[in-house]
Amino acid sequence: MSLPLGACATSPQLDIRQERGQREVFCGLTGIVWLHRKIQDAFFLVVGSRTCAHLIQSAAGVMIFAEPRFATAIIDERDLAGLADLDDELDGVVTRLIARRPDIKLLFLVGSCPSEVIKLDLSRAAQRLSQRMRPAVRVLSYSGSGIETTFTQGEDACLAALVPQSPLQLATQEPSLLIVGALADVVEDQFRRLLSVMGIKHIDFLPARHAADMPAIGPQTKFLLAQPFLTDTARALEARGAQHLPALFPLGEEGTTAWLWAAAQAFGIPRATFDAVTASSRERAKQSLSLHREQLAGKRIFFFPDSQLEVPLARFLSRELGMELTEVGTPYLHRRHLADELAHLPQDVTLVEGQDVDAQLDRCRAQKPDLSVCGLGLANPLEAEGLATKWSIELVFTPVQGYEQTGDLAELFARPLRRRELLEV
Ligand code: SF4
Repeated sequence: MSLPLGACATSPQLDIRQERGQREVFCGLTGIVWLHRKIQDAFFLVVGSRTCAHLIQSAAGVMIFAEPRFATAIIDERDLAGLADLDDELDGVVTRLIARRPDIKLLFLVGSCPSEVIKLDLSRAAQRLSQRMRPAVRVLSYSGSGIETTFTQGEDACLAALVPQSPLQLATQEPSLLIVGALADVVEDQFRRLLSVMGIKHIDFLPARHAADMPAIGPQTKFLLAQPFLTDTARALEARGAQHLPALFPLGEEGTTAWLWAAAQAFGIPRATFDAVTASSRERAKQSLSLHREQLAGKRIFFFPDSQLEVPLARFLSRELGMELTEVGTPYLHRRHLADELAHLPQDVTLVEGQDVDAQLDRCRAQKPDLSVCGLGLANPLEAEGLATKWSIELVFTPVQGYEQTGDLAELFARPLRRRELLEV
């Protein structure tokens, strides 16, 4: 099925093919791996099965020296058979956890496929537990289930759960800039510095590093999305009266400049000031790409739908590194949030929303791209067939946004090509 891009996009008409079939993606629980590092006094309690526990444990690695800030409350056969009172059991688990870990200030109950199948109402449980434990601990819930979702939606669901709990910004308060999406601390610090030097006084990040520092949100909030997969979070922010600033995403020199400029314009910063503040960083970012461009220009790349970062990455790779896009697949395509990105893609690009993994594998094999960006499950078989791959999950774990990370982002695509060239010698 083919769907022309709607009126909300500013780009010429791009053809977006929609595909449905078997999918090959991780579930939203994966987001816990980076979210528990970001919010330093939060704990993520998955209410799920042994499979969920295994996924989180293997994705996050075993923490030997630190107490982990995630765990799984296992739903067992007695629970499934309705022989146990799950509310009582969950209350008992949470009470013991909080008694043992007074450092926890924010507890997320994270739903999973099993908890959804048995219709366990975690939002009610979170309200009940929050009332009992406040003000020392706040308890929230969200779903990380793998039914019809992809792995970055876990972060979206988590941040969307935080928004209604954030302090209400008053209409009389000074306008604030809110940067939305979990970024590495080093990236956050760079953005904060650039934006403050430009003259933006009040800058917040969602999520904050500590539960007590979650930002006030209201009609005086203007927000920039740092990630393209935060659909529900953006909706929750808009419901609070906050205003979205549309822009490219901060990947590469061009994306970072457009993204920062959207904020600068919203806060009345003159272009000359903006240019003076960003000039040296922009220059460094461009220089960091020159070596990689030599290696990547003209190389053909194929994106399987996985992280929802595919469209901004494709824009960066085609415009700043001269790569040729054979196919850009993405699990979901938010036409409004990605309107600027779509307008910057080559007109003849093949865009596919959704997944039919067998059909995509067939097309990938037929195209024989130089590099395929895909989930972990597809990488090994493709490598075995002689195709170089890049794990898309690495692009979420690695700091890649902003000027100083532009070279690192390009390096992530150059490395697998170099490795394959060495293997072929
Ligand atoms: S939430 Fe669902 S998809 Fe994710 S690990 Fe648990 S059972 Fe598997």
